Amino acid sequence: MNDSGGPGLRRCGRRPAPGALMDARLTSLAAARFLLGAGHPSHFPADTGREVAFAGRSNAGKSSAINALTGRRALARVAKTPGRTRQINFFEVARERRLVDLPGYGYARVSRAEQQRWAALMEGYLRSRRSLVAFVLITDVRRGVVAADELLLGVAGRARVPVCLVLGKADKLSRNEARTALLRARADRPDLAGLQLFSALRRIGVEELAECVCGWLSG
Ligand code: GDP
Repeated sequence: MNDSGGPGLRRCGRRPAPGALMDARLTSLAAARFLLGAGHPSHFPADTGREVAFAGRSNAGKSSAINALTGRRALARVAKTPGRTRQINFFEVARERRLVDLPGYGYARVSRAEQQRWAALMEGYLRSRRSLVAFVLITDVRRGVVAADELLLGVAGRARVPVCLVLGKADKLSRNEARTALLRARADRPDLAGLQLFSALRRIGVEELAECVCGWLSG
């Protein structure tokens, strides 16, 4: 087994032959560029082609994960620009192929009205978006799936969108602890399309997740 628990990803994408094809797939994510930020469904880009959405609790490491996958540091910084953090940010990796950065959730200080606006935006996106082919949920391996993640898993389940659950910041645990967390998560959620360890810092599971996302986008 590799560090990320790779076998858990077998179902989430076609496994390319090692070598050139793998490089080409990673290169396609590296071409990512910021397309637009939308605060309302009417601002979403045309619902054509394929897109993979990323979600997670604030501070779970979503921006770092997107940076690691694309190798483009400035990308997630764009999404973190004040005013854009409550928006859905779209990045184009190829023609009609997009990564979607959903707004982070779990800020205790956010007002009820703001939470409701967030929930409506997420529902609006997840329920209506035909080009959405899969969903990557970034969690902190030390916290696991929290209540807000469950809400999102519920919405994704009802919308029948496959989910890859990423147990992030795996470098914060020992190898054995991380493996135990992975096995426990697998036992708890056998229905997920993908489940893996990840660390942007130590680059654990970056290739596996990129492969998975590229597979979904190529589909
Ligand atoms: P976001 O709010 O979900 O976009 O989270 P960020 O990507 O901004 O990361 C939040 C914090 O976690 C920052 O201080 C990052 O440096 C840190 N972080 C992100 N990824 C990792 C990781 O893989 N390992 C460790 N140890 N820290 C990380």
